[in-house]
Amino acid sequence: MKILVAVKRVIDYNAKVRVKADNSDVDLSNTKMAINPFCEIAVEEAIRLKEAGSAQEVVAVSVGPKACQEQIRAALALGADRGIQVETGDNLESLNVAKLLAQVVRDEQPDLIIMGKQAIDSDNNQTGQMLSALLNMPQGTFASEINLQEGEVQVIREIDGGLQTLGLTLPAIITTDLRLNEPRYASLPNIMKAKRKPLAVVTPETLGVELKQHSKLLKVTPPAERSAGILVSSVDELIEKLKNQAKVI
Ligand code: AMP
Repeated sequence: MKILVAVKRVIDYNAKVRVKADNSDVDLSNTKMAINPFCEIAVEEAIRLKEAGSAQEVVAVSVGPKACQEQIRAALALGADRGIQVETGDNLESLNVAKLLAQVVRDEQPDLIIMGKQAIDSDNNQTGQMLSALLNMPQGTFASEINLQEGEVQVIREIDGGLQTLGLTLPAIITTDLRLNEPRYASLPNIMKAKRKPLAVVTPETLGVELKQHSKLLKVTPPAERSAGILVSSVDELIEKLKNQAKVI
């Protein structure tokens, strides 16, 4: 079994998000970047399936500028076998990413595709679903448990008020939820080994995919600044302020 994992380069979840002075976008200069956390969970799950003997090869693919090779190398350090970078500009809309990934899937013919449920930068939560539609493949989104069976994968999903179990015929697409697993840290020897693992670079042209933007980013504004709090000297004063000033009780 071959597993393809899609990893996106995003702003590190610990980094403070700054907006450019002209409100044109998020300012990523001098900002720590990382693998999208849900994609890290996807890599971990693929590696666990390989370690359990259910999969033979894990391929990590990322769509973006050359810098995203850093995140492919991080996936290789965690245990993926080889990487593919689809060289594009920044901020591609999901449909374009899905079209490029669809072509990589047609070329690579994986049995399972594992992606994050959402990228924490744009919060789109749509690339996996679009890929599934483009490839006419079954999808199990927001997976909290995966069990491989003969020619099928069972996906347990957290839904309102309970759990749903789906049986998907392979090849299938799975998107990961937070509780699927806890990703490991890459060891230093594995980070060194990852530098020598194969990483192919392809382009939309070599994949034969024409990109069309259907939307454009108009403006990004930071959240409103919170005003400073005040210290009250007694519970009575607190209740008085909540009643008459904040008018919340
Ligand atoms: P989104 O639909 O943008 O919230 O992203 C959902 C998932 O799609 C991510 O967790 C990745 O697995 C995949 N994905 C989105 N954008 C990219 C990208 N540029 N390169 C690789 N994978 C991506």
